[in-house]
Amino acid sequence: MKIHEHQAKSLLRDFGVAVPGGDVADTPAGARAIAQRLGGKVVVKAQVHAGGRGKAGGIKLADDPAGAEAAARQILGMRLKTPQTPPEGILVRTVMVEEASAIDRELYLSITLDRGRSTHVVMASQAGGMEIEEVAERTPEKIFREWTHPALGLGDFQARRLAFGLGLTGDRLKQGVALIRGLFALYLARDCSLVEINPLVVTKDGRVLALDAKLNFDDNALYRHPAVVALRDVHEEDPLDVEASKYSLNYIKLDGNVGCMVNGAGLAMATMDIVKLAGGEPANFLDVGGGASPEQIENAFRILSSDPSVKAVFINVFGGILRVDRLAEGVIAAVRTLGLTLPVVLRAEGTNVELGKKMLAESGLALTMADDMADGARKAVAFAKGARA
Ligand code: ADP
Ligand code: MG
Repeated sequence: MKIHEHQAKSLLRDFGVAVPGGDVADTPAGARAIAQRLGGKVVVKAQVHAGGRGKAGGIKLADDPAGAEAAARQILGMRLKTPQTPPEGILVRTVMVEEASAIDRELYLSITLDRGRSTHVVMASQAGGMEIEEVAERTPEKIFREWTHPALGLGDFQARRLAFGLGLTGDRLKQGVALIRGLFALYLARDCSLVEINPLVVTKDGRVLALDAKLNFDDNALYRHPAVVALRDVHEEDPLDVEASKYSLNYIKLDGNVGCMVNGAGLAMATMDIVKLAGGEPANFLDVGGGASPEQIENAFRILSSDPSVKAVFINVFGGILRVDRLAEGVIAAVRTLGLTLPVVLRAEGTNVELGKKMLAESGLALTMADDMADGARKAVAFAKGARA
């Protein structure tokens, strides 16, 4: 799960991490009032779940409250398009108004899970404000990394090593160390999957501040953090993803046109492979889970058929915990309520497969049965390419 910059910054504040003063507004007049309260120059920043806002016109400097109001009027309601947004952009509904910092240096800091080493890694670089992937590609020696002990956490010596790596000295070093420690505490306490501060800045008057803040959370740990869940902004998510998460379906939209409905992540991956092998492109990854109920199957079907790019559906299930007769029940119910317009190919094996196939055959639905996975993939791909059912 992702949150907005202003939400991330208020979490940072809770953990003692220095951030510029600021607040969030959804009207130009609201932005003006915040600028008035802050005094001096401010920055008006579009709040969307995507980076690259600066270059895309989503961040504007304003000299005074009137300027902040004008900037907010421009930014609010715009469709911000950055390399990290969908091609059609994201509608800006809120802006953050914060104190403008006189920047001396822009640095980079992040914390994430290093799957290769099975522990957390803190990364720091003096190349702030740039895409870290680009820095890693071109000048990997400019990134400092400290891996933490899973039980001991981040050592003070490690925080100092990173701060030295950032070129901080004297009082700035102290501030940098405190900031790194605060960030790491936040990362652990809130089960983040990513904390990224880009840029972390040193101001001309010697303060070390998080000027941008990106926090992602591990979805599997959200049940422990109701306060984090409350920060979710579904406007920023794909409507089909939101639907899928309501019914605990693992759904990821892809670019192709063969809708896949599968139980179990491993089988879902294999299904996508075999669709490709048959010359097609999967429209999605959809794992209904091992123990899907007929209701979940029905909802999964509804989600697939509401995606206009889906031209054929390939249902590929292995009835283990999910018995094939229950799958059949869900499919029949879905097709009855939705009306079947798409060709559907079904391959099923496992518990109660005979009963399930009998139910489907007697339902009078125009389903195409497949002998095995390869046959099912071939048939679904042919339908997606325009063959008639
Ligand atoms: P994004 O990563 O989406 O482009 P950032 O928050 O990183 O957004 O801002 C982009 C750039 O805008 C920063 O690198 C910085 O130069 C400038 N900027 C952002 N916030 C402030 C601020 N409070 N004061 C001064 N400059 C800022
Ligand atoms: Mg940034």
